[in-house]
Amino acid sequence: MEGGNSKRRLVIIGGGVAGGMLAKTMQFHADVVLIDPKEYFEIPWARLRAVVEPAFAERSLINYNEYLTNGRLVTSSAISVTETEVLTKEGHLIPYDYLVIATGHTTSQPRSRKDRLRQFVEENEKIRSSNSILIIGGGPTGVELAGEITVDFPQKKVTLVHGGSRLLQFVGPKASDKALAWLTSKRVEVLHGQSVDLSAISESDKVFRTSAGETIHADCFFDCTGTPLGSSWLRETFLRNSLDMHGRLMVDEHLRVRGKQNIFAVGDITDVKEIKQGFLAQKHAEVAAKNLKLLIGGGAPRGGLKEYKPGPKIAIVSLGRKEGVAHFPYVTLMGCIPGKIKSGDLFVGKTRKQLGLPPGLA
Ligand SMILES: Cc1cc2nc3c(=O)[nH]c(=O)nc-3n(C[C@H](O)[C@H](O)[C@H](O)COP(=O)(O)OP(=O)(O)OC[C@H]3O[C@@H](n4cnc5c(N)ncnc54)[C@H](O)[C@@H]3O)c2cc1C
Repeated sequence: MEGGNSKRRLVIIGGGVAGGMLAKTMQFHADVVLIDPKEYFEIPWARLRAVVEPAFAERSLINYNEYLTNGRLVTSSAISVTETEVLTKEGHLIPYDYLVIATGHTTSQPRSRKDRLRQFVEENEKIRSSNSILIIGGGPTGVELAGEITVDFPQKKVTLVHGGSRLLQFVGPKASDKALAWLTSKRVEVLHGQSVDLSAISESDKVFRTSAGETIHADCFFDCTGTPLGSSWLRETFLRNSLDMHGRLMVDEHLRVRGKQNIFAVGDITDVKEIKQGFLAQKHAEVAAKNLKLLIGGGAPRGGLKEYKPGPKIAIVSLGRKEGVAHFPYVTLMGCIPGKIKSGDLFVGKTRKQLGLPPGLA
């Protein structure tokens, strides 16, 4: 698989933060095919702002063809893979010389950008027409949504139900405490150690019972419990033994799937021992791109590939438009400093620039 031909076939499965960036970087170095069930890339950290301000998504939903000008997009899900080709849900076989798996988390989002924009409008109408809102899940999505709603619609009653003993369990307890104190100061009612059975509720419900037997009255609810890793489709393939017990792909220090010379994995789907964050997924994409260029160009595959070093535990969770809580390795910050870093533009302009696009709309 080494050397020589600059038109090697590179198939990237998953056009999220890592795969989308990698496709952009590699499009003039290989014959790139990007497979994703959506026609657009969505900046994930802008999602909750778009729920309270649908127009915000005009910049954060980017059709792949805006920046993938020299690659081919296959709008479908990968459902199987062999040593030489990928099978899509529509039954197409896509051959590869090099493969990158970047399927992060599964999505049930609409196929077209237009329909995704409409979905944000509908979610916004749901909030506007409700006096009370139940948020299920106290990870970054649930906390950021509670922050957005309570800042933009302070008159609404917000209840957040969280199964764990503290919010934001992916970062340290100080960040959890600060987020809880902030939400409580905004009159958000937070119930810890309780869950709501999602399979037993429907959109029209107004009364919800928690696992602890509490009753919550709310005009609508949002499921913020997260989506599964996008690796279940690999379980029946030759890569099944490359998955760890959590369903993550085990990679070597070059981000190649262990034992495979021409298959890489990047982003949240990997077993790299670090916090799962988009800025690290982007770094994976950078390292994988360098290694793919080396391999495609025939350069020093033995010992010469770039190594990926796990990234630091850094996360910023926005709390409305001006504040946030930030976890850094030695310090946790709360208030307007993390707010200044993230909460205003939510890195949308920055992410667009990384994709070679203007930060704003023309
Ligand atoms: C609310 C929220 C806020 C966040 N804030 C930040 C932040 O401020 N900073 C930060 O660094 N990180 C943040 N993150 C984390 C960040 O979004 C993730 O770490 C990042 O999205 C991981 O990128 P990825 O490319 O690995 O996966 P994803 O972005 O999940 O992309 C996976 C892609 O694969 C596609 N896919 C899945 N299955 C298949 C299949 N079978 N076939 C084809 N395609 C498939 C999906 O459609 C999707 O496009 C936040 C996350 C959330 C939810």
